[in-house]
Amino acid sequence: MSNVYYTKEVYCPVCGEKFDTTKIKTSVLRIVSRDEDFCVHYKDYNPIYYDIFICPNCGYGSSENAFDKLSDKDKEILKKAFASRKVGRNFCGVRTYSDALDSYKIAIYTAGLIDSKNSYIAGLALKTAWLYRYTKDENEKKYLEMALKYYTEAYNKENFPVNNMDELTVIYLIGEISRRLEMYDQSIYWFSKVVSHPDKNSNLRILKMAKEQWYAVREKTKKI
Ligand SMILES: [Zn+2]
Repeated sequence: MSNVYYTKEVYCPVCGEKFDTTKIKTSVLRIVSRDEDFCVHYKDYNPIYYDIFICPNCGYGSSENAFDKLSDKDKEILKKAFASRKVGRNFCGVRTYSDALDSYKIAIYTAGLIDSKNSYIAGLALKTAWLYRYTKDENEKKYLEMALKYYTEAYNKENFPVNNMDELTVIYLIGEISRRLEMYDQSIYWFSKVVSHPDKNSNLRILKMAKEQWYAVREKTKKI
């Protein structure tokens, strides 16, 4: 086990307890392929399973990056929400697929209780969609729709960069998620927004992907 996993000690900002949570060593990760919405397919071990930290004491759950970034107001809300709950499950060890899925649902639920950014919720929804994609489960669509809604809100309201993504990447991603949901007119609108963006040359990788996916949509709609 120690060749694959390690533990990280985490302090819970809601209940004040410390706990150890499992993570995967990056040295064991083997990438098989990447989808156009940045979903990575791994052989054997998937680090996405361990992105969400969940306190075994109070049940508070959030992504590693957001875990301790709570305002005092958020902490108060979460203390009230989680204080009376009985925590019957422990996510700190090696996680199964359903543990991973449920960890994201807890994080989405938690984010809905406090003043979380749209881009943060969008990222959680997108990764939940990927988890469903791995098993070809049609629930993927529901979470892509959620990601689309929150990324669009983020684009309209937040200052870039959001979640380590620049504006071009978010515009591209909205286009790509729309394409996956077969909202072709909308996806063309967003891809063209990348291609005509004044800063398009600041991210040539995304510009290239937007052109390719725009072309893919055009070919697809021709056939229809
Ligand atoms: Zn806690």
